[in-house]
Amino acid sequence: MSSRSKSAVVTGASSGIGEATARSLAEAGYHVFCVARRTDRIEALATEIGGTAVTCDVTDAGQVDALAAAIGERLDLLVNNAGGAIGVEQVTDADPEGWRRMYDVNVIGTLLVTQALVPALVASGAGTLINISSTAGHDVYEGGGGYTAAKHGVTAMTGTLRLELNGLPVRVTEIAPGMVRTEEFSLNRLGGDQAAADDVYAGVDEPLVAADIADVVTWVATRPHHVNIDSLTVRPIAQAAVHKVHRTT
Ligand code: NDP
Repeated sequence: MSSRSKSAVVTGASSGIGEATARSLAEAGYHVFCVARRTDRIEALATEIGGTAVTCDVTDAGQVDALAAAIGERLDLLVNNAGGAIGVEQVTDADPEGWRRMYDVNVIGTLLVTQALVPALVASGAGTLINISSTAGHDVYEGGGGYTAAKHGVTAMTGTLRLELNGLPVRVTEIAPGMVRTEEFSLNRLGGDQAAADDVYAGVDEPLVAADIADVVTWVATRPHHVNIDSLTVRPIAQAAVHKVHRTT
């Protein structure tokens, strides 16, 4: 890592939005710490982009402490992206364990990594913290109770953090994507059922792709540091609202 390059941590860098974000930030000149549980994937990515792989389960406080130790005293950019959805059951039928897991990765994972790395962001003198929430952090929909509850938690935490860090040299941004077609998000949500995952995007003309969100993250991070983009909602044209998706089939 060159002494002059800026440093970034991207959680959930082993696939989808996180992987694309790591690539985009590396192209923008950042040394990227690629963080996820699947070591083989982040090591391959880190080799490709000249970054550093750090295997870490963001829900495990001990592993997050080790991540902070690996990063060192200064950090320019933290992208809390690790997260996801489990299941599409209605509130009355949902398995509480799925809700716990969603809260754990989306909210507690973001909390632990933030707590561990904010001191390094402050120490940089010009830190940036970006949380990837979701339009599910602002709206609700049938079958989305557990995920929307967790992502509303991320939205609330992000706004609170901006208030609490006021006066320190760290800006705080929430990016709320709508429908992004990534390889694993819907597959994981739907228990590995590829046909059901494909149906989520059926007939939708050009859902967002991971690179679209990566581009937005990089744009936010590369504004002059006094510019704090508080919140950005990003959807494909075909999706006018969570419920309003134009399909050709
Ligand atoms: P993916 O399923 O492709 O990526 C999720 C990433 O999170 C993976 O890299 C996974 O890596 C990592 N991850 C999951 N659990 C943990 C954990 N406990 N510790 C560390 N890393 C973890 O999803 P997307 O790229 O589509 O989504 C990325 C983010 O964007 C998520 O927060 C998601 O909720 C949000 N989002 C996605 C949308 C979409 O339509 N796709 C829309 C709006 C928001 P590994 O398994 O290797 O640990």
